[in-house]
Order: sequence, then structure tokens, then C-alpha cells
Amino acid sequence: RKIPAVTLHNAVKMPQLGFGVYKVEKGPETVETVKKALEAGYRSIDTAALYNNEEGVGQAIRESGISREEIFITTKVWNSDQGYESTLEAFETSISKLGLHYIDLYLVHWPVKGKYVETWRALEKLYKDGRVRAIGVSNFQIHHLEDLFANSTEKPVINQVELHPRFSQTELRKFCSEHNIAVEAWSPLGRGQILDEPTISYIAEKHGKTPAQVLLRWHLQNGIVVIPKSVTPSRIEENINLFDFELSLDEMQQIDALNMNERFFADPDNFD
Ligand code: NAD
Repeated sequence: RKIPAVTLHNAVKMPQLGFGVYKVEKGPETVETVKKALEAGYRSIDTAALYNNEEGVGQAIRESGISREEIFITTKVWNSDQGYESTLEAFETSISKLGLHYIDLYLVHWPVKGKYVETWRALEKLYKDGRVRAIGVSNFQIHHLEDLFANSTEKPVINQVELHPRFSQTELRKFCSEHNIAVEAWSPLGRGQILDEPTISYIAEKHGKTPAQVLLRWHLQNGIVVIPKSVTPSRIEENINLFDFELSLDEMQQIDALNMNERFFADPDNFD
């Protein structure tokens, strides 16, 4: 299965569809789930120090027999580790838990007030030292990005944020696109909460696809990177089986119209 890639502003290519592992239990559940995802054809895995399953992700990669260069690995520095020295230390912990020689993408998990600029300086060092192929941020609002631009040299390649048709982040997407920063959706399915939306089921039925597939297709056609999560083998398959249909412009607009600027989860201005 051929997954399209996005080219980040430093020329690194990243699969536009990846696999998220938040709330996948550490140990055997992570190993089995990630192996299943790799078998199904995913080549990008999104983990974080917070998820407490980096070891299982690393084990699954080694046991899969797929070569390291074919897999794109993202991990993130957690809030309590932010700051320059502590981020460098957190990175060493993550890379050793994963058992890898390099990380593809390292992200600042949340913009912790008073700390994220120092944290970013540590990511710049890791990037310059060749420990990571790309560096980015997560949950950054426009004002956080502007602050970073004013106080650093490297620009993030990507911003991973809550994004789904109920919270479509139009302003932030426009800002990121003007600054050549890719946008990645976390909770692309609204963690399951928008699958029953009648507009989505209607469109899904017309295409002989599922609501989850329609939602993921909406993201892909908007140029957004997606990382749906599931531990159910049939859904892991379903969520990658997206490349044999296309939503029309009219269908894309019907889904756009579901936006209510409604965050389902934490607010980056009050979460650190
Ligand atoms: P998601 O939108 O991917 O939803 C996952 C849930 O939706 C599953 O637990 C399951 O209940 C349901 N589901 C999945 N596939 C389905 C299908 N085909 N049919 C029906 N139901 C289905 O939510 P998520 O896990 O929150 O987000 C995806 C990934 O994003 C995470 O695993 C993690 O890697 C990342 N993430 C990052 C942040 C951040 O702060 N950077 C925050 C949350 C999540």
C-alpha cells in the first residue's frame, strides 16, 4: 500500500498517514498493536514519553524485520521535563527506551509557559547534532509560534494539534501554511465522538466506506497529516484503507460546515 508523503520544510519526507499509540498499554499490547500496524502498512508511529510505551514501540520495530529507514518515528518531550538541560536528558531516556540510533521527529508536547523557548533551544541542539531528522511542536497556538520565531533560529517543521471537523482550526492552518509549517491532527476521529454524525454516515454510505474512513479522507484531502489510533486489528486495517476513493468538493464542504470551533480536549493556554 502506497502512503503519500508530505515534504517538511527541511526536505525530510513524512508519511501523511501514521499510527498513534496514546493510551495503548505498555508491554505486550503495544508490541502486538504496533506490529499489527506495521503489517497493515503503516510506516509512521506517533508516541511520546508521556504514553509510557516507547519500549514496546521499539521492540515492535525490531521484531517487524522492516528496516529502520523505512519507518518514521515521532516522540515528544513531556511538560515536567521542559527546560534546556532536562529536555536533553529526557531525549536520552526516550531514545534509549526506543532502542534507536536516531529519532525522525521530536516534538515539544505542549507550550509550557516560561519554558518552551528553552525547550526549543534543546531541540535545536539535538537537530544540529544529527540526533533527530526534524523538530517540531505540538499544541502551539499562533501566539506561541510567533514567540518562538522571535526567539529562536530554527522554525518547527510541524505543529501537531487537536483537529477534526468539529474543531477544524482554520486560522491556525492558514497561519502554518503561510509559514511553511505542516499541520498534523491529533484525535483526527475526535476520539470516536464524531463517527455518528449524520452528515458523515450519509457520505460514508454513498461511497461504501465507513465514517472513520470518511473523516480520515477529509484530513488527507486537506493536506493534513493524520495519526489515528486503534488497538482493534480490523480498525487498524480500516484506518489505512483510504486510497481507493475520493470525497468531492461538495462533500468536503459539507464536512467543513460541521465546524463549531469546539475543542473536545485540553486548551493549550491552560495546560502545563
Ligand atoms: P483518535 O481520534 O485517533 O480516536 C481513537 C479512538 O477512536 C479509538 O480509541 C477508538 O475508540 C475509536 N476508533 C478508532 N478507529 C475507529 C474506527 N475505524 N471505527 C470506529 N471507531 C474507531 O484519538 P486519539 O488516540 O486521541 O488521537 C490519535 C493519536 O494522536 C494518539 O494516539 C496520539 O498519538 C496523538 N495525540 C497527541 C496529543 C498531543 O497532545 N500531541 C493528544 C492526543 C493524541
